[in-house]
Amino acid sequence: MLLTDLLTKNIKTFGEYPFLYFKNHSYSNLETLHYAEKGAAGLRHLGISRGDRVIVCLPNMPEVIFSYQAIARIGAIIVPVMHLLHGKEIGYIAGHSEAKAVITSSEILPKVKEGLSESKRKPYIITVDQVADDVIGFYELAALADGTESSGERDTGIDENETAVVLYTSGTTGKPKGVRLTHKNLYSNAESAAVNNKERGTTIGVLPLAHVYGLTTSNICFLTGSSMIIFSKFDVSKVFKAIETYKVRSFSAVPAMVHAMLSSSDSDLYDLSSLKKVSSGSAPMPLALIRAFKEKFNADVLEGYGLSEAAPIVTAHREGLPYKPGSVGVPINGVDIRIVNEKGHELPAGEIGELIVRGDNVTPGYFQNDEETKKVLKDGWLHTGDLARADEDGYLYIVDRKKDLIIRGGFNIYPRDLEELLISHHAVSEAAVIGVPDERMGEEVLAYVVKNPGFDITEAELIQFCQTHLAKNKTPRKVIFIDALPRNSVGKVLKTKLRQLAEGVDLFS
Ligand code: AMP
Repeated sequence: MLLTDLLTKNIKTFGEYPFLYFKNHSYSNLETLHYAEKGAAGLRHLGISRGDRVIVCLPNMPEVIFSYQAIARIGAIIVPVMHLLHGKEIGYIAGHSEAKAVITSSEILPKVKEGLSESKRKPYIITVDQVADDVIGFYELAALADGTESSGERDTGIDENETAVVLYTSGTTGKPKGVRLTHKNLYSNAESAAVNNKERGTTIGVLPLAHVYGLTTSNICFLTGSSMIIFSKFDVSKVFKAIETYKVRSFSAVPAMVHAMLSSSDSDLYDLSSLKKVSSGSAPMPLALIRAFKEKFNADVLEGYGLSEAAPIVTAHREGLPYKPGSVGVPINGVDIRIVNEKGHELPAGEIGELIVRGDNVTPGYFQNDEETKKVLKDGWLHTGDLARADEDGYLYIVDRKKDLIIRGGFNIYPRDLEELLISHHAVSEAAVIGVPDERMGEEVLAYVVKNPGFDITEAELIQFCQTHLAKNKTPRKVIFIDALPRNSVGKVLKTKLRQLAEGVDLFS
């Protein structure tokens, strides 16, 4: 099955209905097809064809979906790029992917031009809201092709094992890597995940469509015949309003959004009783938040786990199976998981090791980067770099990133244990724990903490609190209060940034 089948199957099964809502407009699934066809004809006319890469660098808006479908129709490869990246980063991706075109908007255009300024290649620039001498308007693409032989018909020779998307991961170290995802990777992942989201309804599209989690969420909407209210950025009051207006039952989010919903007093202004479920992934979800959310909204936060290289969903809480808060659920259909030790031997239930994954969703490798591919794909298994354990019933628990593990005086310390403990304190809103080099112990534990507004607490009090709940050797050496944790666009805490901040910090002052 191909990405374009998502749309054609959706129309065939559900007939015409409002598929996307965006800023007082709605776009039906048939209109989506119309714009995809027009876009495909225009791209073809520009000489873009099967296997060529086309960047889509836009905040969430309907044109992202139209562009994805247009690119897929001609068998070209979608390169979603987060619009918040710097010009240089966009330029790197354009250069590495050898993109033939960039679809963007007038707001982001200066950054795109800056990024491309040093490159010899000059991709076509297409903007969704402007026509100028050096840019082509997205809605003018079709007119370009009018009267020519270029059509918006689907390329009929595309194989589901061809690359559909190259997703550049944010890359905390080194240059970003382009994860190749085939049509089959993405389609099968959405199909397996849709088993847990069978119900047809209206959902909220607030996760970036340029991230694989947002992309798959929209693919699930196609399969379930649902509608999506698209938000270009997360505004908690607007989300509440949308829940009330469209009687939203469920949507996908990240922990930072769940946290913002909990902290906002605006929730009292809206009728949120329709909300039954929020799926959360991408970063650890503290148990305390899951419980508080249930209490405040009477809705479950169901945590799942995934990564770009697995298109992305690996595990989720399955309907009909008991819900275990704190766990990220069980593998979705067609996905196998194992927990292995350093030697690659499978570990029994309860033991912590690296999580490896196999299935139709697993990437065939990185774009033009065999060296990195060999590091993560071994004998068909994707090595995730995440430490996890499974219980007797096969439920998975993510312990931490392998590279975030702190080894202090020879003992393993999982930052997440400490982070969970710190945020269970009423004065703490957020916490992130890192290891910093230390001559005596190898590594020392440093905690960054955001206080809850209106509460005060000292470093000594927090350290004392940790000591009463944890072994002494796990207690942070130092606690630093900070206004906000650095996060990426899907709410993941940027620990590399914290490590940079920690350079030069005197642990013993
Ligand atoms: P990305 O490829 O950007 O989606 O990042 C994937 C990484 O996010 C995984 O390898 C995990 O480290 C992390 N991650 C995703 N979901 C969870 C979760 N539910 N709990 C903890 N970490 C998660």
